[in-house]
Amino acid sequence: MTVPADDSSLALDHRERMAPRLDEVLSRLEAAAQRVGRDSREITVLLATKTRTPVEIAVAVELLRERGRRAAVGENRAQEIAKHADPLLVDNAVPRHFIGRLQTNKARDVVGFAELIHSVDREGIADALERRAETAGLTREVLVQVNTSGEESKGGFAPTVDAIAPIVERLRASSSLRPVGLMTIGANTSDDAAVRASLRMLRELRDWAREELGAPELEQLSMGMSGDLEIAVEEGATIVRVGSAIFGARPGV
Ligand SMILES: *Cc1c(COP(=O)(O)O)cnc(C)c1O
Repeated sequence: MTVPADDSSLALDHRERMAPRLDEVLSRLEAAAQRVGRDSREITVLLATKTRTPVEIAVAVELLRERGRRAAVGENRAQEIAKHADPLLVDNAVPRHFIGRLQTNKARDVVGFAELIHSVDREGIADALERRAETAGLTREVLVQVNTSGEESKGGFAPTVDAIAPIVERLRASSSLRPVGLMTIGANTSDDAAVRASLRMLRELRDWAREELGAPELEQLSMGMSGDLEIAVEEGATIVRVGSAIFGARPGV
């Protein structure tokens, strides 16, 4: 156990609560991967950690590792970044990502802790992240967020070649940011066909960019959450972002 003694009974409670939930998520992943001939172990399970405590997050990381899975943690509130400095998380050296809506005035904090930033959703954010990474002497990997559902509440570039090509080229020219793929939040609907169409669009755009822009480094497709992870895996997700299916319903959300 990486969890210190004073937290251990709490950690045990979380283990007992979360292990069956996590196993259910992994069997959903596995079944979906099998349907399309993929190895589910190549898919990173990113823990969407908003509102969760360091103990809960550390336990989930540990459970994933015990099961031989690639784990990462993803924060989406710059105000919650401080908890990633908790010894529980620092000690277990889990990769840290940022998945939330970015504000330019938080770029420095985000660059400071996240090795992969999923949510480059407009040009100005690329500028701010680049400046902050350069100043700090860091190189950060980034994903271009695409609004594949057309829902107004969601950020991201339009899902067209004309919108994606310039931001990908702009990021490839950066000395401190390295684009490694695309990210989307699937359509918010119970209509599976609509969800699938939005996720498939992301893969097609990624494949187009790799081919037509000569950008083979765009390997990652960050898509799929608790409700749509099977469809995402079938459509090629390399990173699924899972919160409530592992941790339980978010309090007060
Ligand atoms: C919260 C969040 C998730 C995970 O959502 P769940 O439905 O709880 O799995 C994934 N991606 C982003 C960007 C999020 O904010």
